[in-house]
Amino acid sequence: MMDNLDSLYREVILDHFQNPRHHGALTEPTVAVDGKNPLCGDEITLQLSVENGVIKDVAWDGKGCAISQASISVLAENVVGKTIIEAKEMINNVKGVMNGSVEVETLDMGDLEALAGVRQFPVRIKCALLGWTTLEEAFKELNI
Ligand code: ZN
Repeated sequence: MMDNLDSLYREVILDHFQNPRHHGALTEPTVAVDGKNPLCGDEITLQLSVENGVIKDVAWDGKGCAISQASISVLAENVVGKTIIEAKEMINNVKGVMNGSVEVETLDMGDLEALAGVRQFPVRIKCALLGWTTLEEAFKELNI
């Protein structure tokens, strides 16, 4: 399906896949959550360091398709330094982009634009949302 994506978008996704941002582990995470997308075999562990309602740092590790891994890399770039409230708004916005109710151009979320092309391929939407639904789980775990 990657062949069907616009070549610029494909390049951005492959860049995140090959040079993942915030990949690795934190020494003292506030929370660590696993996420799985059995449909595709994507698996991730997401760690957050949260202080006073702000996401100070993010690290993740995982395996799976380029879409899922690139999406988490984009997520990490976007949420570091943001408040929980801002991050929750982002989760809703990204879900909106994937279901077509939010135009990605109205958001200031950098490379998320490259992932928006995935919405033409419903079976891959779960791949693109895995990081975001895992982030949601992390907040639930923290009761925030
Ligand atoms: Zn996948």
